[in-house]
Amino acid sequence: MTTSSTPRTGSRPGDATRFQRLAQAAAASGMTLLATQWAGGKAVYPVICRNGHRFARHGSRLLKGNTTCQQCQADEIRQHFFAVLKQKGFRCSDNAFRGLTARHTFT
Ligand SMILES: [Zn+2]
Repeated sequence: MTTSSTPRTGSRPGDATRFQRLAQAAAASGMTLLATQWAGGKAVYPVICRNGHRFARHGSRLLKGNTTCQQCQADEIRQHFFAVLKQKGFRCSDNAFRGLTARHTFT
C-alpha cells in the first residue's frame, strides 16, 4: 500500500528553497505561513490571512497562487450585496445575506 498523499518527513536537498518559495507565495498574498518546514507539494499547510482567518491549503496550490481566503471572499460578497442594496434603495427583509443562490426578499 502506498502512502503518496501522506506528507513526508525528513528533509531532502532543495527543501529549504521550496519552503522559502512557499512562504514567499503566502506573503505575496498577505498571508502568513504557519508551517515551519517543507513537507511536500501534496502536504497541507496552515496559513492565516491578513484578516486573521485560519485555513489550510496544499503546498502545490499555494505555489501556483491559489491563495484566496474563502472567508474573506465571502465577506466581500456580503458587503457588496448590502452596498448594492443601499445604492438601489432596497433593504433585505431579514437583513441577512444567505448566499448567492438563496432567495432573498427585499423591501
Ligand atoms: Zn481571510
